[in-house]
Amino acid sequence: MGKKKGNHLPDSSRQAPLENLRTFGDPVLKQVTGPVTVFDSRLEKLARVMFAVMEREEGVGLAAPQVGTLTRLMVWRDPENEDERHVYVNPHIVAQSETCCTESEGCLSVPGTMMEVTRAEEVDVEAQDLTGAVFQVHLAGLLARIVQHEIDHLDGRLIVDRTSPEERRRVLKELRERTLAGSS
Ligand SMILES: [Zn+2]
Repeated sequence: MGKKKGNHLPDSSRQAPLENLRTFGDPVLKQVTGPVTVFDSRLEKLARVMFAVMEREEGVGLAAPQVGTLTRLMVWRDPENEDERHVYVNPHIVAQSETCCTESEGCLSVPGTMMEVTRAEEVDVEAQDLTGAVFQVHLAGLLARIVQHEIDHLDGRLIVDRTSPEERRRVLKELRERTLAGSS
């Protein structure tokens, strides 16, 4: 995990503004992010842009690769609590329950489709805030699911990589048909 150096954008993506949401098929979504080592105003700005994109797209979480940057940073919110906003820098799962649950899950980068994904019911996550301070949280249910989903993005993994082979085939076919329809 996280073996890439620096927080550079991939060459092909340098021109695209951060506000553009990257979607399925964009190679940046399959890459592993590099750890954040500098906690500066650039990092804050990235988090701000990510919150704005998350709100605009009406999502509950967003990871840096979804705006084309390979930085180990994610933002999320509790859909039940409008006032809560969270930024996790360099997050990783330190413990997870053996109990799993399977739920229908969507992703802003795989628009218009939902798929069944099995995830741990509870997780302990360690992360840093925008100042670099380390903290640990225990999350359960939907909140644990949101954070596992975003950490997957930071490791270059999408929900299509987490679902059953049958679901995967169905979704890829759907996406292909939509792309073909869109380009004709
Ligand atoms: Zn996603």
